[in-house]
Amino acid sequence: MAMKINADLCTACGDCEPECPTASISVKKGLYVISASGCTECDGEYDKPQCVKVCPIKGCITQLAA
Ligand code: SF4
Ligand code: SF4
Repeated sequence: MAMKINADLCTACGDCEPECPTASISVKKGLYVISASGCTECDGEYDKPQCVKVCPIKGCITQLAA
């Protein structure tokens, strides 16, 4: 599973990008995006997704629908 960033809510503050242990967050054309193939939901590294933890916007980063 992976997380995704809701572009409608993201303010592009950049806080999440350096926190990702798998370097799965990048900026594409000014939009922050999570690589679904790289994101591990921080499994094995942290108790909960670090991007969600640091993102100041509630509901901005959610689980990618299967
Ligand atoms: S859940 Fe973890 S691995 Fe996935 S994008 Fe967020 S910080 Fe990176
Ligand atoms: S921390 Fe949240 S609001 Fe900031 S760039 Fe990341 S997803 Fe967007």
